[in-house]
Amino acid sequence: MISRKIDEHQISKAKLLIDNASKVVIVCHMSPDGDAVGSSLAMAKIMDKLGKDVHIVVPDPYLANLKILPGAKEIVESSKYPDFARQLFDEADLIFCLDFNELARVGRLEEILKEAKAPKILIDHHLNPTVEADVVISHPEMSATAYLVFRFLCRLELFNFIDKDIAQCLLAGMMTDTGNFAYNCSDPELFVVVAELIKKGADKEKLYYDLFNTRSANCMRLNAYAILNKMEIFEDYGAALISLSREELNRFHYTKGDTEGLVNRPLAVPGICYSVFLREESNLIRVSMRSLGDFPVNKVCSDHFQGGGHLNAAGGDFYGTLDEAAAYVRSILSENKRKYITKQE
Ligand code: MN
Repeated sequence: MISRKIDEHQISKAKLLIDNASKVVIVCHMSPDGDAVGSSLAMAKIMDKLGKDVHIVVPDPYLANLKILPGAKEIVESSKYPDFARQLFDEADLIFCLDFNELARVGRLEEILKEAKAPKILIDHHLNPTVEADVVISHPEMSATAYLVFRFLCRLELFNFIDKDIAQCLLAGMMTDTGNFAYNCSDPELFVVVAELIKKGADKEKLYYDLFNTRSANCMRLNAYAILNKMEIFEDYGAALISLSREELNRFHYTKGDTEGLVNRPLAVPGICYSVFLREESNLIRVSMRSLGDFPVNKVCSDHFQGGGHLNAAGGDFYGTLDEAAAYVRSILSENKRKYITKQE
């Protein structure tokens, strides 16, 4: 048994909306990860079992290794099928917003989602949601949206509807957002849920292989290069910085997802509790940050890079050159230490 966390009022409102809906659209954030896709697929399968006409619409392509998840081939990429995506939103009578807190996080779907008339149910674990929805189930203390979706389904008395495929998708989400249960997983009930999903037939070993241990040779070489030649360590600040230019990415035939997890690697060095990764994109520098302990990278990202996220995992953007971004990151290290590392001195 797991404890009740979701507010009863939100559950009863959601139940009514689901009962009254026949055309359901599920949407998640851009650059969908294992949690966004896993949660969406699980919810779609449940809606299908309830007899709804259901579609998942994602703003842009998702990582290739997520194609192994059951049902992933049915996902509608709005970048490829913009008219169909708009039609689905126009005709929907219920929209699930999964794994994002702000409308801007759905990228090109922002306007369509804003204009959609259908009631919305938000299920998410990012801080301070601003999406206007009829039902808001926001639990930042949960490790993954998939974990929250499991709780949501149990409260709707749909536990028995969770089959092997749904269990596989939910476990994929939970594994993704905890780095295969390496971080953000101190909640003991999380493991009760894992046990239930495995009892339902989820194959954790296959998920580990597909999601965490499948990489192209180019990808491995790019990551090795980044650590060998591009990792700067700032011992005085317990910080590390890796930056990769377009030219460097192209040299290793970079494809989306190839630098996934790279930002975590410097945290393996004893004494490093704050890691920054900068990746040059066509018109901006993408900033990713990770930390250990109570160093709040979400604050650093919102203060300096128009971004945000979780305490230990956050991101943002920098407008300028890669060198300027790296210089800026170095320039705020002492301010960061002063502001956020209070316990050591
Ligand atoms: Mn998530």
